[in-house]
Amino acid sequence: MIAVLSGGVGAARLLRALSGVVDPTSLHAIVNVGDDLEMHGLCICPDLDTITYTLAGLNNDELGWGLRGESWRVMDELAALGGESWFALGDRDLATHLYRTQRLRRGATKSVVTSELAKHHGLSVHLFPVTDDVVATTFETAIGHLTFQEYFVQRHHDVVVTSIRYEGASDSTPAPGVLETLRDASLIVIAPSNPLISIEPILQIPGVRDILQGRRSSVIAVSPIIQGAALKGPADRLLREMGFDASCVGVANYYRDIVATIVIDEADEDRRAEIEALGIDVRVTTTIMHNEQNSSMLAKTVLA
Ligand code: GDP
Ligand code: CA
Repeated sequence: MIAVLSGGVGAARLLRALSGVVDPTSLHAIVNVGDDLEMHGLCICPDLDTITYTLAGLNNDELGWGLRGESWRVMDELAALGGESWFALGDRDLATHLYRTQRLRRGATKSVVTSELAKHHGLSVHLFPVTDDVVATTFETAIGHLTFQEYFVQRHHDVVVTSIRYEGASDSTPAPGVLETLRDASLIVIAPSNPLISIEPILQIPGVRDILQGRRSSVIAVSPIIQGAALKGPADRLLREMGFDASCVGVANYYRDIVATIVIDEADEDRRAEIEALGIDVRVTTTIMHNEQNSSMLAKTVLA
């Protein structure tokens, strides 16, 4: 059993790559819910959906989110009505949120609905929201308090962040199976996801960080930062704004109490000694999963 702490796109790609190298039923993704939101009365879980769609081969690569071959008739009509349409939801994607919301209203947990959607899409990888409770990552910024999607989508993460909060995290309960998976897994992988807004909201759920600290020698991370930059999103900028080096060394430093090994990109090989000085082992390979060959190489390095 392999546990993978997961955000959205970077994690989805790593899970897809790992699925090609090991039995996918051994993979247990523990997924961030800090980006989840309610919009139009619907419960939307961006990271869970990105992973589900990607593993089902349905992800929209041009947009980097949502379903391929999507249409936008509902959003177009909503915009024409003058409704709130800055958070785009495709017509087919809406069905996922309608289904999830109806099931939740009838008493199902987010974990159960996640499994139902995964089963519908024929996934073999096990997906767990880290908690069934509501946890919301929010930001204090130069222009005031912002919810996750106000920061990320509405403002295109283009404002200075002064602090990040994980509202509800410390009072939450891990979802069924989460702590057991982390205790029993032979390997715990931290996916190349945003450390501050994808991985930290998982670590903040009671019990999670403690288990990783106790099992540090079994934890390996993949750096989402290559040559000082994120491939997408604000990971580099947020690391800097929160006082960390925006580099694979900064990522290693951020995880130093929970990670024994980090995989960095070959372009960052010259940073190896700085990371080793933190007491963390380094593996160097190609970490950009833009084709099957690179992805498979990265997956094999993680498992080795
Ligand atoms: P989300 O997709 O916005 O939920 O965000 P994630 O936290 O999963 O992913 C964003 C991070 O993933 C960014 O810092 C990217 O640099 C990183 N990322 C995405 N794809 C890859 C990849 O193929 N390789 C590596 N090393 N990092 C990646
Ligand atoms: Ca996300």
